[in-house]
Amino acid sequence: MTDIHPVYAAMAPTIFEHMSALAREHGAINLGQGFPDGPAHPDMLDAAARALAERSNQYPPAFGLPELRDTIAAFYARRQGLSLTREQVVVTSGATEALAAALLALVTPGDEVLLFQPAYDSYAPMVRRAGGVPVSVPLSPPHWRYEAAPIAAAITPRTRLLMLNDPLNPAGTVASGAELAMIADLCVRHDLTAICDEVWEDVCFDGVPHRSLLSMPGMARRAVKIGSAGKIFGLTGWKVGWFCAAPDIAQALGRAHQFLTFTTPPALQWAVAEGLGKPDDWFADQRAAWAASRRHLADALQRAGFTVLPNAATWFLCIDLAASGIALTDRDFSERAVREAGVASIPVSALFEGDGPRHILRLCFAKDHKILDEAVARLAAFRATLA
Ligand code: PMP
Ligand code: GLN
Repeated sequence: MTDIHPVYAAMAPTIFEHMSALAREHGAINLGQGFPDGPAHPDMLDAAARALAERSNQYPPAFGLPELRDTIAAFYARRQGLSLTREQVVVTSGATEALAAALLALVTPGDEVLLFQPAYDSYAPMVRRAGGVPVSVPLSPPHWRYEAAPIAAAITPRTRLLMLNDPLNPAGTVASGAELAMIADLCVRHDLTAICDEVWEDVCFDGVPHRSLLSMPGMARRAVKIGSAGKIFGLTGWKVGWFCAAPDIAQALGRAHQFLTFTTPPALQWAVAEGLGKPDDWFADQRAAWAASRRHLADALQRAGFTVLPNAATWFLCIDLAASGIALTDRDFSERAVREAGVASIPVSALFEGDGPRHILRLCFAKDHKILDEAVARLAAFRATLA
């Protein structure tokens, strides 16, 4: 009899995989898993193709191409005012791998790890697999704000780490400077290390600034900042990510990374290095296209009588089903809508452990406007059948 580790014994596929599989099976419009439609930016494809043809296709250095590590540091200096050296940056196979390496390197058995809910689905299982104990701090819609009292109340003498996803997927919110300062202050006072999942840092709208928790007072030596080219360039299949931390912390996490994937395809690393060097306008154009899709979906949903929650970042809009006159739970609505209406979505409750809201649905807006219109028409027609 083969014993499977309890974390994996009864584990289901991720909600993203589940919904994308259903979307394929039913030929549904996929507003579930987050990825942009349409061709990749030709500059990025050209850079990757050139690198495949002209550069080495053998193992690059385990911690990433030096050129890419330098470019990531320069990108953060330019965009976020951070002062990082190459030694502080390690390239990984997506942010998911960076998160795994961080947890494997930082959690020792019995450590408590604070997780804000909703949370990206890999956090809690990876904390458990590393021997830690996830401790939930729930956030509440529609604003999903961070408050000192519940965070402080969740901290015990065993708390070692805090995971912060800012901007927050699935909510699409961005922490304010005051919230980040409060979280940094708690980290310093309770000697916590923060794993900052900032993959959505460059997908912020309406001039809302993203600040890294790493830049807050006292955090330089107690924060690991995680990023992903998948989000910055809308190339989710490339799986080029990274983490940044103080040199000794980066080195230790790099040792965990070396036995997870060891390295990441070199052509994609070269292309990401080229892409990160593009001028700010290049990124602004891409963001403007996503912002236009966001407005298009929000307007169409509102015209159809759906209640849309505020959004300042990510590729996601959330709708409040209850306020939209729908009595189904988000899970039931999502499971039925993909089959009966031909629209895949993500029930936000799938990203909650324990009690949480059951009436919030996440829709990805990074799609062609006509597809968004068709999806809203289908959702509205489906809602009418529920009355
Ligand atoms: N963290 C968050 C909050 C995410 O939304 C995602 C992907 N959507 C990831 C991590 C994983 O990023 P990657 O695809 O680079 O592994
Ligand atoms: N994070 C992506 C999303 O929120 C999905 C990533 C995945 O499928 N693992 O849609």
